[in-house]
Amino acid sequence: RAKKRGRNHAAFFTQDMQVEVELRLALENELACAIANQEMTIYVQTQVDCEGQPAGAEFLLRWRHPVRGQISPAQFIPVAEESGLILGLGAWVLGQACMALSTLSKVGHRLPVSVNVSPRQFHQPGFVAQVKEILATTGAPAGQLILEVTESLLIDDLDEAIGRMNELAALGIRFSIDDFGTGYSSLAYLKRLPLHELKIDKSFVQDTPHNGNDTAIVNSILSMARHLNLKVVAEGVETRAQAEFLIANHCHVLQGYFYSRPEDIEQWLSRLLAAGSQEN
Ligand code: C2E
Ligand code: MG
Ligand code: MG
Ligand code: MG
Repeated sequence: RAKKRGRNHAAFFTQDMQVEVELRLALENELACAIANQEMTIYVQTQVDCEGQPAGAEFLLRWRHPVRGQISPAQFIPVAEESGLILGLGAWVLGQACMALSTLSKVGHRLPVSVNVSPRQFHQPGFVAQVKEILATTGAPAGQLILEVTESLLIDDLDEAIGRMNELAALGIRFSIDDFGTGYSSLAYLKRLPLHELKIDKSFVQDTPHNGNDTAIVNSILSMARHLNLKVVAEGVETRAQAEFLIANHCHVLQGYFYSRPEDIEQWLSRLLAAGSQEN
């Protein structure tokens, strides 16, 4: 009986893996046409300062699949990264962000906009030229653009990363380390990079203020950032208690469902434009 169960289990496992491989292949094929089919959208999450005032906005990709429904970026970004489709997707998001920045700057808004940049996108040979071209064609103020990179992206080739970041920083673009603390954080590289901010990963924020280890980690990041002159954004702020703890410990910017859920880019933009025209 044990043998039979074992065999069944093995068969089930194989079938499971097969389904996973097939889903991945299907996603990859469908992802290739997703932009052209207008299935990709952008959601924007507002970040606030410690007084609750808007301090920035992060652009987040969403895939509205005609059959499968909403597909989370956690599912399709890895597929896009492996297949190289991230290059087209990443350029598209960057273009949308710069168009929004350009539109907003025309009505006098000076809100920084953050865009996630994947390792493959950042390391592609023409990346710096591509960013320059997007800035030139959209007329976006480079000083309002923040590129979010990950620790793994920096580790891949630190010298190359530093070179690229310096070229882009010379245009006024700022850099943020996303999901800070979840990768191979070497304090040595933090010093060498033209960085503007760190984003504390939501896994550290989630159990504050009751978890002693997490409050210690968050406080250490805040204190280190202060000494390195870096701004800190806390991700995944969901409760008042978390917000109060972060503000009491001088975290500069807060992002999470407690303050604001990601909203459709059209809705976000029209809200800001309406507010802008009221001021004039
Ligand atoms: P991320 O860059 O760390 O983005 C923050 C994620 O946390 C977003 O998930 C956001 O919706 C979610 N979030 C915000 N507030 C809260 C909260 O209070 N609680 C919880 N539990 N979650 C919160 P999302 O939109 O599903 O994106 C997941 C990841 O996919 C992003 O993590 C980013 O790494 C990646 N991603 C999204 N858009 C892009 C893109 O345009 N390019 C690249 N390369 N990656 C992207
Ligand atoms: Mg991010
Ligand atoms: Mg991330
Ligand atoms: Mg993050």
